Amino acid sequence: MNEVVQYLDNLVTTINPGLDMPVPERHPCQKQKSEIRDDQQDYIDLINKLQRHTRCSPGYCLRIDKEGRQFCRFKYPKKIVEKTFVRDDGHGQPELVTARNDLYINPHSRLQLQGWRANVDLKPILSIHAALQYISKYASKAEPRSAAFSDILNQILNESQPEDPLLTSVQKLLLHSVAEWDISAQETCHILLGTPLYHSSRQFVILNLSNEIPRWIRGTGESEKSPDSGRTEKSPLVAYWDRPTELEEFSLFQLYLTHRLVKNRWKECQKENIVRIFLRPSPLREGPQWEDFCHIKVLLHVCHRDLQQLTENETIAWSTLYNNHLEEINTDPIDLLGQPIGNAENEIVVEEEEQLIEDDEEDEFRFDWMFLAEMGLNPSFNCSSDLGSRDMDRNHDWINDPRQRYNDTDLRDIDTFISSDSRISTEEENLTVDYQTLNDNQKKVFNRIESHYHDVLVEHQVEPLRIIVMETAGTGKTYLIEAI
Ligand SMILES: [Zn+2]
Repeated sequence: MNEVVQYLDNLVTTINPGLDMPVPERHPCQKQKSEIRDDQQDYIDLINKLQRHTRCSPGYCLRIDKEGRQFCRFKYPKKIVEKTFVRDDGHGQPELVTARNDLYINPHSRLQLQGWRANVDLKPILSIHAALQYISKYASKAEPRSAAFSDILNQILNESQPEDPLLTSVQKLLLHSVAEWDISAQETCHILLGTPLYHSSRQFVILNLSNEIPRWIRGTGESEKSPDSGRTEKSPLVAYWDRPTELEEFSLFQLYLTHRLVKNRWKECQKENIVRIFLRPSPLREGPQWEDFCHIKVLLHVCHRDLQQLTENETIAWSTLYNNHLEEINTDPIDLLGQPIGNAENEIVVEEEEQLIEDDEEDEFRFDWMFLAEMGLNPSFNCSSDLGSRDMDRNHDWINDPRQRYNDTDLRDIDTFISSDSRISTEEENLTVDYQTLNDNQKKVFNRIESHYHDVLVEHQVEPLRIIVMETAGTGKTYLIEAI
């Protein structure tokens, strides 16, 4: 082991021979070769200028541990070590700990450092595991994330001259965005290990119905390795038109829902596919995309062999075809595009009505007296109530229930109870009220209400009247109210 350690000490060191020396003012890398006279001083300058990990920064090496403490991920500052030794790193792998007299110095080789003249972190490889770890770490390193599209455009515009033609900027933008290549660490690992980048329990089928050109570029990234990936293939619609006669009864949607075209033959799938369509026109009836909407609906759900036959050589509009085949279209179990929505005019009216209702609901809570105050002459009241005819009213034992609650004396007086109760005086009800007899203050209130009522009668728009009459007992409030 001594020999091994000796050998490693020759390769790599963490001893600073100029521990007390200052950091050189002039960068040693700026020196011409002829300026370097003292070889030892040059080595010390290089170490103190660029071989010490003295500036930890959040963007580079600082991390936060579980207790919320900051630490340097390279574990600086490190402990002083008397003599070089090799130990188990805790995972069964050998780890070299070199003799160290400087808390911050990076491991290096003097010869290499003085030749290379830049910061290095040198580590001898002690096991095959370390070699593999090193390779895989760099092979799976993620690229820095590319800038957003708008940022790229902004940068290009900032660098361009006002008199430059617009085309130049657009070309640059195109070049930038085509050349951008974002690949995450996870994607890299998947590619290296040969595992697929995605997995799904269902097949997705995307029907691009934007155009009926007969051939499409075959896509890549399909789970079954397709040898003619990148070549042209029949468009989904043409493939449907060319289906064999035993699939005659399938609509375009049904066929792609249940079948898959493999090597030019339709194979039934074990599970239904998830069919997505590209181009989703607005379902607004008679709206600007109504013909397109009908077009896609008919293509998807009406069995056909070619467009000439379907449209009778383009003499029938898609909307007419849609109406003619409505039943057939609506029988297909899954409706990808949804049903059309009203017609354009009705739609807007409905929206306005909803808007009005919402506005009303936003008003503050209104008390009953507010409604009553606004009713004006001959109001019609909605008095409908099921009180007395509800099950609980009908099932109630009206005869025997009072007998259980009141004693016989009370029950005997039941007929005369109201008229004989001293607390309820009928005196005031019979009071004759003459508003001529009101005093000045009472008259003020009376006149105010009278003029308000007059305004209501002639249907002036008036705010509801709110009056509080406050006085001590016996000043004539009740008399005033009676008069009113
Ligand atoms: Zn650090």
